Amino acid sequence: MKVHLQMVGCRLNQSEIDQMKRQFQSQGHEVVEDPAQADEIIVNTCAVTHEAVRSSRNLVRRLHRASSRANSAAAITATGCYAQLAPDALAALPGVRAVIDNQRKDQLVPLITGEPLAPFDAEPLERDQPAWMGRTRAFVKVQDGCDNACTFCVTTVARGPGRSRPAAEILAEVQALGALGYQEIVLTGVHLGSYGHDLGAADGLSDLVRALLAEIAIPRIRLSSLEPWDLSPEFFDLWQDSRLCPHLHLPLQSGCDATLRRMARRTTQAQFRALVEAAQARIPNVAITTDVIVGFPGETDAEFATSAAFIEALDLAKLHVFRYSVRPGTPAARMRGQVSEEVKRARSAQLIACSDAGEQRWAGRFVGATLPVLWEQVAGATTDGFVNVGYTPQYMRVMALHPRPLTNLITPARLDAYDPQKRHIQALPVID
Ligand code: SF4
Repeated sequence: MKVHLQMVGCRLNQSEIDQMKRQFQSQGHEVVEDPAQADEIIVNTCAVTHEAVRSSRNLVRRLHRASSRANSAAAITATGCYAQLAPDALAALPGVRAVIDNQRKDQLVPLITGEPLAPFDAEPLERDQPAWMGRTRAFVKVQDGCDNACTFCVTTVARGPGRSRPAAEILAEVQALGALGYQEIVLTGVHLGSYGHDLGAADGLSDLVRALLAEIAIPRIRLSSLEPWDLSPEFFDLWQDSRLCPHLHLPLQSGCDATLRRMARRTTQAQFRALVEAAQARIPNVAITTDVIVGFPGETDAEFATSAAFIEALDLAKLHVFRYSVRPGTPAARMRGQVSEEVKRARSAQLIACSDAGEQRWAGRFVGATLPVLWEQVAGATTDGFVNVGYTPQYMRVMALHPRPLTNLITPARLDAYDPQKRHIQALPVID
């Protein structure tokens, strides 16, 4: 069977699609890049904003049109958060043969192939393509669902209660990914910081990271988004192992305590500032990034000004700025004081400008320094060499011209200059 897979949304959706690809391949099926060649098409949808819903629907239509170019259109199976929240609307789209909700998503491959899932086996993948081909960084899902109730969030509705994968299963998968040549793994989940809580392990994530560092030789381990209230200052002692990437993404969502209360976020200005300071004190050169929602219901000009001033004072490496999106079924959708799109746009522009300035200040600190870079792809070639693109452990994007492709190598690189337009640092790989 030839299978084409695509997703919309977060790193968790990406890790699930990557895992499905590996499962199909380990059963001997072929993953194809062209939907017109596919017998089966899998779409992992998103519903975090109405824009994400629109992208998910458009992707399904586009894939149906593309596969219809072949003599017989492939059957589309849709899964993910939009499939969970609006299965009938999705099933009504052209080419959709099946809609599989988030609770059954882990069984999607056997549901389609009729073959039971075998424990993760790298051999079929190694046989199909050279070890490093296209595999520099792997997203590994360790947890799903969430037990919090942030009032704007549809993810907790779509993904259900928090549930953790057994640590032994994760270790086995990461071991196999290392054998396949991956240089970096990214642990991901809906509420990563709550890993193990449902298994009775209060410090489950610390235990898991410690076990990975102790038992797996992979050069880099990165953690994806972490809710601030899950972390203690001692958690940051794990970074004494330099394989743990000094990059923390800590969603704040608002820098105003009154707004945070209406969001039902379990943090405050004081708690978040203390956490940032604890991380900066214990992890050298740590990059701290965050998510911020502007225009949350009831967010007055004064509340926004408080939020923006607090965030600016934290001087973070980067902000991901979102305009509040009404999500049906969430408490915030029923709140008074909905903010106009015009005001949201203005507030978003202000915080994006703040983020750009912060990113430039942050990158500027490393100009002249030499850092290890994991080269991830070749973006082009000139008469002077290959344009290599990679990331530092702080997740700074780096570009370098070099006589040969450096994909999937980790090399020192001297960081020369930050380009604010292209948002990358020009560098010189230091290779003997
Ligand atoms: S912590 Fe809050 S924002 Fe994050 S998934 Fe859970 S409910 Fe949603």
